[in-house]
Amino acid sequence: MRVLVTGAAGFIGSHLAEALANAGHDVTGLDALTGYYDRSLKRENVGRLAARGIETARLDLAADPLGPVLSEVEAVYHLAAQPGLSPDTDRRAFVRNNVRATERLLDALAGHPHLQAFLFASSSSVYGREATGAEDVELSPASVYGRTKRRAEAAVRARAASERWDSCILRLFSVYGPRERPDKLIPKALRCARRGQAFPLFEGSEHHRRSFTYVGDAVEGLVAALDRFPRCAGQAINIGAPSSTSTLRVLERVAEVVGRPLCIERRPPRPGDQQNTRAQIETARRLLGFAPATPLRDGIAREADWLERTRTGQAAP
Ligand code: NAD
Repeated sequence: MRVLVTGAAGFIGSHLAEALANAGHDVTGLDALTGYYDRSLKRENVGRLAARGIETARLDLAADPLGPVLSEVEAVYHLAAQPGLSPDTDRRAFVRNNVRATERLLDALAGHPHLQAFLFASSSSVYGREATGAEDVELSPASVYGRTKRRAEAAVRARAASERWDSCILRLFSVYGPRERPDKLIPKALRCARRGQAFPLFEGSEHHRRSFTYVGDAVEGLVAALDRFPRCAGQAINIGAPSSTSTLRVLERVAEVVGRPLCIERRPPRPGDQQNTRAQIETARRLLGFAPATPLRDGIAREADWLERTRTGQAAP
C-alpha cells in the first residue's frame, strides 16, 4: 500500500517507516522537524530513511499546504505530535501540534478518493494518573499533553464517521529504545550513568510504575494494525508491555547495563505525571496477535549501545 507516516523524523515514526518499507509498503514520511529536541537527531533519522529509499517531506501539518503529499496515499499513520510533559513546553505547542495539526490533516483528507485507513498514535496519557484499565474506561487525562491527545482522538473518530475511510486509535505506553527522545527517563539516566553525573529525579517519581515498551515491539503492533485493518477499524487499542516496572528499578537496570552506580539528585515533583501505567492488551492480542517480548534489560542494553555508537559517530540502528 502507499503509506504516509507523519512524524517520520521522530523516534517511533522513523522505526515505523522502516518497518513498513520492510513489510513491502511504499512509504513516504512527513515531518516539520520541530525544535522540541536536538534537530540533528531528526536529521539523522531522515538520512537513515533516505538511505532506505524513503523520502521525508518537510512540512508543518499546522501551517503548510498538504494536498500534494496526500494525493496518492491509501493509509496514513499519524504520529506527528508535541509529546512530553516538560513544564518548559508552552501549552500552545501542544494545542498547535496535537490538535490543530490533526484537524488540518483530517481536513486535507476530506473526500479522499484512495484513503482506506487512518491510524492515530495516541497515548496512555489519555487515561490519566492511573492507566491500568481496558480501552473503554472513561478518559480523564491529567496533563495538557493527555488532554490534547484526547481531543485529537475525538477529532479522528468524528471525521472517520463521515468519510469513506476508517480509523484506528493506537494508545502507546512508554516506548523506549534506540533513537529515543533525549528528554525521556532511560536516555537521560544512561547519559548520567555514563558521564558519572547526578540523575535529576522528580520527587515521588521513584515509585511510579510504567509499562516500558521496547520500540521494536510497539512498532510490530502498529504494523499489524494495518495488516489486519478491517478487523481493527473503529477500535481504540492499547499497545504496551503488559507488565509494569518502577522508576527505581529502571534506574537500577540502567546502572547494571552501564556498569556504574547512578547517583540521584531530587527535584520538585512534576505536574501531570502518571502514577501507574500497565497496559491491558487483551484487545491487541485478540485483534493484532500482539505479543511484546523484549525484556527490559535487553531493550536498555540496545539503547545504551545505540547511544554509545551515536557518541562515537558510528552508524547506529
Ligand atoms: P518525537 O517527538 O520523536 O516524534 C514526533 C515528530 O513529530 C517529531 O519529529 C516532530 O518534528 C514532528 N512534528 C511535531 N509537530 C509537527 C507538525 N506540526 N507537523 C509535522 N511534524 C510535526 O516523538 P515520539 O516519541 O516518536 O512519539 C511519536 C508519537 O507517539 C506521538 O504522537 C506521541 O504522542 C506518541 N506516543 C509516544 C510515546 C513514547 O513513549 N515515545 C508514548 C505514547 C504516545
